[in-house]
Amino acid sequence: MTAGGDEAAAAYRFDVVTLFEPLMSGYLGGSILGRAGERGIIEVAYTDPRDFTTDVHRTVDDAPFGGGAGMVMKPEPLAQAIEQVRARRGPARVVLLSPSGRLFDQRVAAEYAALGSLCLVCGRYEGVDERIAAEVVDEELSIGDYVLTGGELGALVVIDAVSRLLHGVLGNAEGAFDESFTGTALLEHPQYTRPREWRGHAVPDVLLSGNHAEIARWRAQQRLDRTAARRPDLLARHAGDAAASEETPS
Ligand code: SAM
Repeated sequence: MTAGGDEAAAAYRFDVVTLFEPLMSGYLGGSILGRAGERGIIEVAYTDPRDFTTDVHRTVDDAPFGGGAGMVMKPEPLAQAIEQVRARRGPARVVLLSPSGRLFDQRVAAEYAALGSLCLVCGRYEGVDERIAAEVVDEELSIGDYVLTGGELGALVVIDAVSRLLHGVLGNAEGAFDESFTGTALLEHPQYTRPREWRGHAVPDVLLSGNHAEIARWRAQQRLDRTAARRPDLLARHAGDAAASEETPS
């Protein structure tokens, strides 16, 4: 198989442990990610914890010790599902989606993109028995400070963000370089296309000037201004990164 027409490359292997495969396969079968699958750049396989139950009802949840609302995912079927993925497919890392995990961002996406394979474990109900995190996964990952119904949306977010960093997934190889959070911690500069004027808003003259150095300067300033106005927390990180790279001997 080839990636972007260059030398042969192995597909990035995603494994997903989920009770709800159809929620994910629909999204992953379409558009850019669907094409990446057809071209052998990514491969997604699903494992259902219900296949590791032993009772007639295929039970994967139970009431929480100590009381409280809702049900908790039992450790045994989930652990066996994860252990089968480990044994058969050898993922580089096993990640449990959880609101209590490390926060996902573009840097984590780049870290995962370099791994070559990843197993994503989706919780449901009120969450997962704590011993799963202690025993069978490598890390817990949150996609943001809010609570979702299940880990599937989180797994989709991770697969999408990681895949578009893989060579050959985006049609224009430059697409992934000049974006928000990429290369620097900053937001992207504003983008415009035709028409030149729309509802009284004209495209900035500099973008029509043909002067590439001027355009680059304008865009760099826009990235700083926009980040300062909208995400000052990122600006502080950008300043820290810049200082660190000045200190690092080349
Ligand atoms: N009771 C849990 C809590 O308060 O932290 C929330 C459980 S949530 C309803 C069910 C599952 O959805 C979780 O086990 C996890 O897999 C997934 N999930 C929910 N919010 C998430 C988030 N922000 N990031 C990653 N996964 C999330």
